[in-house]
Amino acid sequence: MVFTRSTIHKEQGDKRMDGMHYEGMIIRPPSEADSIILQVTVGCSHNKCTFCGTYKGERFRIKDDAVIDADIQYAAKHLSFLRRVFLADGDALIIPQARLVRIFSRIREEMPWVRRVGLYGNAKSILRKTPEELEELRDLGLGIVYLGVESGDAQVLKDIKKGVTPERLIEAGRRIRSVGLKLSVTVLLGVGGRERSMNHARATGELLTAMDPNYVGVLTLMLLPNTELGQKAQEGRFELLTQTEFLMELRQMLHYTHMSRGLFFANHASNYLPLKVRMPGEKEKALTTIDEALQGAVRLKPEWLRAL
Ligand code: SF4
Repeated sequence: MVFTRSTIHKEQGDKRMDGMHYEGMIIRPPSEADSIILQVTVGCSHNKCTFCGTYKGERFRIKDDAVIDADIQYAAKHLSFLRRVFLADGDALIIPQARLVRIFSRIREEMPWVRRVGLYGNAKSILRKTPEELEELRDLGLGIVYLGVESGDAQVLKDIKKGVTPERLIEAGRRIRSVGLKLSVTVLLGVGGRERSMNHARATGELLTAMDPNYVGVLTLMLLPNTELGQKAQEGRFELLTQTEFLMELRQMLHYTHMSRGLFFANHASNYLPLKVRMPGEKEKALTTIDEALQGAVRLKPEWLRAL
């Protein structure tokens, strides 16, 4: 998954969801802003990434069927103007197939107007599903899987305790694409620190090329004090990049990314230079924009406007 997330419904003041049984932080990708957020798990099944403080102290669990059913019924009654459902939290795809099929079937029965269901999946949960199981979910309404890649560099993935290799990430991404589901991935600028910056950028571009997702969301690392990486930085064992170094990393990553189609976004609130690149046609123009920014000819987002 998942550093994509943007908004938390309760903090957003979204009253429409008030009747739902939300627990803890509810995170969803920016593109799911107009979706019914149905929380089917609490926390993240991995919960070890050193940069992530989202679910710290939260024990992963699947919510009771009765609670999920009640939320589906509430949504069917009060949220029928929304056409999409997003299954939260961190890694809903880890739910055993029979229970997931039940949830998807209930959504279909109660809300036949829903056009797409999305969820976060990590490489492990994706690869635990056979292509046939993913097809079954697709036929029941699953349309998009959000996968947090963060880096394509094996050493960086190890350092940040992502619990996966680049090869497994590619295999997982390809499995999603092979069954006709949309794949949206996130990568994280700066997560390799200064020492591995260029390796991280190049390897991530190469991984994206091998995976060929529909959407790439580039985020920029922001250190959180309640995380292992935040601690490391405080102790001087990890160096955060400068604005210029972040831009150089972005340039290198985009340079090595060859997508057959789709969108390469770097317009998340954490980024200094917002970009939305239709691939492959707009790539060269975007590289020129980054070069101009590196020369100081493009205004960057001020620090105080950045957010996760
Ligand atoms: S997979 Fe890692 S980044 Fe995603 S929610 Fe879990 S701990 Fe955080």
